[in-house]
Amino acid sequence: MTSSPDHISVRGARVHNLKHIDVDIPLRELVAVAGVSGSGKSSLALGVLYAEGSRRYVEALSTYTRRRMAHAPRAAVDSVEHVPAALALRQRPGVPGVRSTFGTSTELLNVLRLMFSRLATHVCPNGHRVPPTIDVAAEVPFTCPECGATVAAPGAEQLAFNSEGACPECTGTGVVRDVDDATLVPDESKTIDEGAVLPWQMFNFKVQPAIAREFGVRTDVPFRDLSDWEREIVFAGPEEKKHITFPTKTSVYDLDFTFRNARLTVTEELKRATDEKRLSRVARFLTERVCPACSGTRLSERARLPRIGELGLADVTAMTLDDVVAWSGTVTAPLPPDMHEMADGLVQTLRSMARRLVELGLGYLTLDRAGSTLSTGERQRVQLARAVRNRTTGVLYVLDEPSIGLHPSNVDGLLGVMRDLLADGNSVVFVDHDVQILREASWLIEIGPGSGAAGGRVVARGTAADLAAEPDSLLQGFLTGEEPVVVRERATEAAMFDAGRIRLATGAIHTVHPLEVELPTGRLVAVTGVSGSGKTTLVLESLVPALLAVSGDDDAHRVPAHVREIDAPGIRRVHTVDATPIGVNVRSTVATYSGVYDDLRKAYAQTDDARGRGLTASDFSYNTGSLACPRCQGTGQVSLDVQFLPDVDIACPDCGGSRYAPAASEIRRGGLSLPDLLGLTVVESLEAVGDIAPVRRRLQALADLGLGYLTLGEDTPALSGGEAQRLKLATQLHRDQSDAVFVLDEPSVGLHPLDVRTLLAVLQRLADRGATIIVIEHDLDLIANSDWVIDMGPGGGEAGGRVVAVGTPDHIARDAASLTGHYLAAHLR
Ligand code: ADP
Ligand code: ADP
Ligand code: ZN
Ligand code: ZN
Repeated sequence: MTSSPDHISVRGARVHNLKHIDVDIPLRELVAVAGVSGSGKSSLALGVLYAEGSRRYVEALSTYTRRRMAHAPRAAVDSVEHVPAALALRQRPGVPGVRSTFGTSTELLNVLRLMFSRLATHVCPNGHRVPPTIDVAAEVPFTCPECGATVAAPGAEQLAFNSEGACPECTGTGVVRDVDDATLVPDESKTIDEGAVLPWQMFNFKVQPAIAREFGVRTDVPFRDLSDWEREIVFAGPEEKKHITFPTKTSVYDLDFTFRNARLTVTEELKRATDEKRLSRVARFLTERVCPACSGTRLSERARLPRIGELGLADVTAMTLDDVVAWSGTVTAPLPPDMHEMADGLVQTLRSMARRLVELGLGYLTLDRAGSTLSTGERQRVQLARAVRNRTTGVLYVLDEPSIGLHPSNVDGLLGVMRDLLADGNSVVFVDHDVQILREASWLIEIGPGSGAAGGRVVARGTAADLAAEPDSLLQGFLTGEEPVVVRERATEAAMFDAGRIRLATGAIHTVHPLEVELPTGRLVAVTGVSGSGKTTLVLESLVPALLAVSGDDDAHRVPAHVREIDAPGIRRVHTVDATPIGVNVRSTVATYSGVYDDLRKAYAQTDDARGRGLTASDFSYNTGSLACPRCQGTGQVSLDVQFLPDVDIACPDCGGSRYAPAASEIRRGGLSLPDLLGLTVVESLEAVGDIAPVRRRLQALADLGLGYLTLGEDTPALSGGEAQRLKLATQLHRDQSDAVFVLDEPSVGLHPLDVRTLLAVLQRLADRGATIIVIEHDLDLIANSDWVIDMGPGGGEAGGRVVAVGTPDHIARDAASLTGHYLAAHLR
């Protein structure tokens, strides 16, 4: 008999930058993978462990699926033994659909629907209230005691807004959309032929101007000169067929075309828009309002009728999770005794599902909160709580930075969830940089020492105590707390406002109270507080739009209605540098985003090889050029669609991911083809193409920001948040910034303590040029290094929404009212 293995053994891992490494990962333990960004943590955790674990999981599925998956590449590793089926909780869970709410995604709503089906007072067709009985609860059709009508209590399905209980008016979305005529022709000085009617222009209805002409609309005069009658045709003309002749590049159409007026063009596109990207393109033409039929509750009239006590399902979902938990304690007592057991069972289920969410600091969210308005961290914690509830056993959970958005005070809740997974016999491997969490791991694997080619090795492994004694570990000083926390020279309190100030006063919005704040300009300002305390509302919903409205000279931005006062002397520009991925698709690469790609294509077009073949710069574009790989159309990837699973993207088998057709490799410059060049890192390519001055300047800026290890052809959407953020900042370092405000939402995401120092150095360079920098942060190193702190709270939701403390980090650390200050004081000690 063999005993069950106690570790996963990885041999010869070569994924991405991993240097043929051997690692053992203890099973059924809490294992942390740490290292500077780009060192290879995700390559090990996701690229090897999760990839192999999920591949085996898929192989256990149907033969159909297996056959299709046989094409999926194995991870580049000699062997991986004893890897359990794996599930990954991603750093950035996808944006949920329009029918997702906090209640649905946590499955709390399922229990509530059962409660309202079984425990509620129902209403008979004649409007009589029928109090709860055990018969109703059993969904047996029952008789109304007052009128004798037969009633079937609505089951859980009839109470679901994503099923039979949906409001028919808004189909369960809670909002209705109308076309906003004011947006259809944004520039009336253009003629229709010049594209005045934006929806026609955007949604490929380029034949519409020709049809409008058939109606008698003049398409060659500025739109503002059209008669009311002509406008009417454009906005609301009938869907008539017209015969027109319409030349395109390749042929001439001579056909009947149906007219689609501008409004219809928008509504048709809306119907077809199934993904976020297309939806956001139509969204600019629409105004949303709360559905009048259901008042935004998403529920049909019938589904809103049952009452527990005085409350309907919609009333309960409008409460915060904390309040729902409190309310659930009042449900059982008023019911007939024979229903108590059933009621208690449901209440207990609800409470045990809620417990972890509350511990993860999400008790302030209302159950009807739309999933799409949750922050990344909130979504990730919902995902995590769900994983725990599923009570799997023997599964490997790979968590990619679970500390995102987590205030230091909620770290214990997170550790509790991870321990629950372990207690059920699972294994947990997490990638994180938060020292508070790393210290709790029973085993740490430090990858490094550097990034990209300079990383990819195991630098140290063992318990936190082992690492603390390991001279090669870059983490040890942070784990022991010996590393100094404050590494930049902060402004003194006396000099804080020397360069000026921004004043903002707001009225109440969401759960945030009216606020008045002052921020020093030319300084690094941190906005802190627990999740839900109002940081995002203050900075991204109030300050940024208000600054945009008063700083620019275009009229595109209006001061939001809830902002009462904004005063920002000298501020002309506002940059929101978020950590969201750059570009929505794989066509955006480091080369295109950094602005070197166009110059590179020109340089290749000027080579003798290219001239001899008559190739121009545009032929070299992997997006549209003749040299792009025809199989993957220059994306470097193809999708395998696998039954029941999300599509799997694999490297294009024809071009191997290079995005180019074979012909492209025949054209060389200094011995390298363009596909070769795109495979080089920024630092390597500086040598190869440093002779092109503008290219050298831009690449050097990337190298200076610690991004020299990125390859030019790397997809920017795949960059980590921190890398994306630094890449965005790279373009800003060479000019005076005293008229600029930079706003960064949790810039520490994905950053090792050493990376945080790199980021601080970048922010310092911006500050040296006079920039005002505002960060929304939980990372204690970043907060400690700020000049000024605005701490929100004290709690989340109704328990928050105020400014708790303002001042220098040292001042905050001494403020007994500030929860952030409490943790900051401990960190500074
Ligand atoms: P970490 O998780 O430590 O930040 P990663 O494992 O994501 O590091 O990346 C390690 C190295 O591999 C980096 O140089 C990164 O640029 C590179 N890399 C990451 N993903 C890919 C990919 N899909 N293709 C090629 N190289 C990649
Ligand atoms: P933080 O950034 O500190 O986590 P937020 O500013 O996002 O806090 O949220 C403050 C409060 O406003 C919370 O109670 C949150 O649930 C609520 N809130 C935020 N955005 C919305 C929204 N789009 N709709 C309704 N409530 C919201
Ligand atoms: Zn409705
Ligand atoms: Zn290809």
